[in-house]
Amino acid sequence: MSSDRQITSRRLLLVAAGMSLLGAAAGCRSPWGGGGGPTAAAAPEGFNESLAGPEATPGAAPVTPSAAPSAPPAAAAPAGPSVETVRHTISTAESKPVYELDAERRVVALTIDDGPDPRYTPTVLSLLQQHGIRATFFLIGENAVQYPELVREIADRGHHIANHTWTHPDLRNLSEGKVRDELERTSDLLHRTTGRLPTWFRAPGGDWSTESLKVAADLGMRNMAWSVDPRDWARPGTSAITDRILKDVRPGAIVLNHDGGGDRSQTVAALKAYLPVLVDSGYYFTAPPN
Ligand SMILES: [Zn+2]
Repeated sequence: MSSDRQITSRRLLLVAAGMSLLGAAAGCRSPWGGGGGPTAAAAPEGFNESLAGPEATPGAAPVTPSAAPSAPPAAAAPAGPSVETVRHTISTAESKPVYELDAERRVVALTIDDGPDPRYTPTVLSLLQQHGIRATFFLIGENAVQYPELVREIADRGHHIANHTWTHPDLRNLSEGKVRDELERTSDLLHRTTGRLPTWFRAPGGDWSTESLKVAADLGMRNMAWSVDPRDWARPGTSAITDRILKDVRPGAIVLNHDGGGDRSQTVAALKAYLPVLVDSGYYFTAPPN
C-alpha cells in the first residue's frame, strides 16, 4: 500500500470516528437502553417526545461505497417477523428493574397503572392527546379482558401497552408456576388484543421476586419501576398529587399514576393540572418504542 493510500485510509477512519461521536452527541442512544436499534427511532409525528435529533436518523450516515470498501452495502431493514410478535431475549443485566431513564435532558416517562377502567381511561387518553404525550399503560389482565376496545384504543393512539399481571397479586407470595400463569396469561391476552407482545413488566406494588424476574425474562419482558410516586392510589387530594410530582420530577424520572383500581378522579384532576406545567417547563415525555 502506498503512503498516499495509507493517509487516505487514516483520514477515512478519522471521518468515520468523527461521525460516530457526532451521532452519540446528537442523542442516538435511546433512554430505554438496548443501543437504539430500528425500534428506537424518534417519536411519531405530533408527539411531545424528543429522543434523537433529525441528524441521528438510524442508517442515515452518508457513507459512500468508495469511501468504505469493506463496509457492507447499505441495506433495507432486515426482513423477518415484526418486532412486536417476537419475544425479546433479556440479559441478566437487562432484567433488573429500571427506576430512572438514562437522560440528561428534560425527558420524563409517564406510566399509568391498573387499568383499563372505562370511568377514567378515556379522559386520561384525551388529556394525553391534548398535550401530545405518549405514555406507558401497565394493564391488569382481568381488566383488559373486560374492555378490549379500550386496550386497542390505548394502543392505536400510540401509547405503550405493558404487563401488570392478571389479578394484581403480591408476587412474593406466589410459586414460580403461579407467577408464570399471571404474567403469561396477561401477555397472551394483550398480544391477541393489540397484535403486540408486551416488552415491559411491572410487579404490583413494585414487589418483584426472584421468580418474577426470571419469568418476565423468559417471556421477553424487562422490568420498569418508578422514581416519582405521588401515592395517588391513596387519594391524598388533587393538590397533594400535583405538588409531589412537580417537587420530585427531574430529567429521566419515571412517574407513577393510576387510572384503575378504585376512584381515580383525583389522579385525573392532577393530570389536568400538572401535565401543562411540565410541558411548559420544557419536559418531553417518552415511552418505550412499540
Ligand atoms: Zn398496580
